[in-house]
Amino acid sequence: MAVGSGGLQDKPWTDPKAEPFVRVQGVSKHFGDVAAVNGVDLNIYRGEFFALLGASGCGKTTLLRMLAGFETPSAGKIFIDGVDMADIPPYRRPVNMMFQSYALFPHMTVGQNVAFGLQQEGVAKAEIADRVAEMLDLVQIKALATRKPDQLSGGQRQRVALARALVKRPKLVLLDEPLGALDRKLREQTQFELVNIQEKLGATFVIVTHDQEEAMTMATRVCVMNAGMVEQVGAPAEVYEYPNSRFVADFIGTANLFEGVVTEAGAGETRIVSPELGGDIVVGTGGTAAVGATVSVMVRPEKIQVVPGGNADPAYNSAEGIVRDIAYLGDVSVYHVELASGKRVQFTRANLLHTADTPISWDDTVRFQWHPANGILLVI
Ligand code: ATP
Repeated sequence: MAVGSGGLQDKPWTDPKAEPFVRVQGVSKHFGDVAAVNGVDLNIYRGEFFALLGASGCGKTTLLRMLAGFETPSAGKIFIDGVDMADIPPYRRPVNMMFQSYALFPHMTVGQNVAFGLQQEGVAKAEIADRVAEMLDLVQIKALATRKPDQLSGGQRQRVALARALVKRPKLVLLDEPLGALDRKLREQTQFELVNIQEKLGATFVIVTHDQEEAMTMATRVCVMNAGMVEQVGAPAEVYEYPNSRFVADFIGTANLFEGVVTEAGAGETRIVSPELGGDIVVGTGGTAAVGATVSVMVRPEKIQVVPGGNADPAYNSAEGIVRDIAYLGDVSVYHVELASGKRVQFTRANLLHTADTPISWDDTVRFQWHPANGILLVI
């Protein structure tokens, strides 16, 4: 998984004095009985590339549409650049939204599509020509200016839609699944381009995606949503390494979750007895829980090592199991190991050597271990 981060080295969200560019306060949106968005509080800072991430139907698009002004909150307030948006219609907000469908005008050329918004605003002809040329250059489709949308590939149409969203130089750019129509290779390439474009323009981007790798690759911070609510907001590495709940642990990347009961709660370390693992687990990071509490310990697959010869380090957590599945992915192999309890554990090994032989085979018994600092205690 690509764990990266966009620009903004100074991390304004860590500064309590920094003024958020977008403030979402207690915002809900109900459609009849459905609470599409339910009591959301968010601060987004100037220059951020902020990703709303979640499964289908969790309310991402509804939240984005409220920022754009296409939906009115049932409760709560939205401020953009310090201004309450309650009475501000979409066209008067410092915002532009790029739709999932791209919504290009089929009868207009690429250049006309991009110019349209500026013409509506009454911008002078010469300035329109300059700004359209500049945008087409930025998104690398200058050569296609006279084509119509049906003469373009999906990736090219996506670039036109992006140019059209950016040409009015909005302070806030909202992108709803902007790369959804692209194949995997083009998507990966475009993700980096999009971050470069955002950094060049210095605008604030909010992107909706259900693709966690996409969010992790591009975003300064990721907001994980579930059933209309915010589960966690953090930099990509934060939500991956330090999820605050079982939901986030499981949603971002792959997680091994072992349930157990706390037997010792010391300073900095918690001991758990876990029948699922078949023994004790010591965990050094994450939440705190009292003796007797039922908790989970999360360990990422790449944090687990196979112990050659079966002798685990006594300072580590360890167990033994039988290899049931192996997925060879080229750079890494993923091993699925079944424990005596029936619990399945996943771990990955980098394929460091140039060989077609597999060092671990199906039905092998393997011992594995991980350091207490590499597990996370989850209490919810
Ligand atoms: P997806 O990734 O599938 O686009 P999403 O996370 O963007 O999903 P939303 O489109 O915000 O989710 O929808 C959230 C919930 O609100 C869903 O249950 C959806 O059916 C419902 N919903 C959205 N718009 C409306 C509407 N206009 N009328 C009624 N229900 C709606």
